[in-house]
Amino acid sequence: MPGLMSAPDDTSSNETSPQAAERIDPALLLPIVIAPSAILKAKAKPVGPGDEDTVRALAPKMLATMYKAPGIGLAAPQVNVGLRMVVVDIQKAGSPGPLVMINPEVVSVSQELNTYEEGCLSLPEQFAEVTRPAVVTVRYQDLSGKKEQLTADGLLATCIQHEIDHLNGVLFVDHLSALKRNMIMRKLAKEQKRKD
Ligand SMILES: [Zn+2]
Repeated sequence: MPGLMSAPDDTSSNETSPQAAERIDPALLLPIVIAPSAILKAKAKPVGPGDEDTVRALAPKMLATMYKAPGIGLAAPQVNVGLRMVVVDIQKAGSPGPLVMINPEVVSVSQELNTYEEGCLSLPEQFAEVTRPAVVTVRYQDLSGKKEQLTADGLLATCIQHEIDHLNGVLFVDHLSALKRNMIMRKLAKEQKRKD
């Protein structure tokens, strides 16, 4: 995956080693929105020049929340912020460290498909196989506003597509048949009720 190594080396990378994940500052943790919720179905707004401070403050919090969960990706709407911003770290050898993607856009996808069992921090303990393009090229800005482009395959490609979906109000269950989706949503509702 040659494109992956061109990942931006942002300043938050020292928060992302596995050791660091164990000493996450609890003050950084944000509550995760659980489905169904209006913000998870809404299209998030592009990050503009006036949002700089917001996204800078949000990035370490989203990363901490993702690592703590633990998860490999998190989109701003999942922490109740309707802006086009995602964080991703699949935490595998050879993969880029933490990625903070502002206004990510899919530029191209492969015809070749890949199927992974997906889960989502907004649908705790629910999993299903989802088929998506195997390779994806995305454009985005990093925290300093620098334009980046990344080509990803494997789990990273799936993760990035899953997170960008969140910015468009789409959940992984929306890729399933209505029957499967309803089954999962009913199961989730039941389990959440039990927790309350
Ligand atoms: Zn998700």
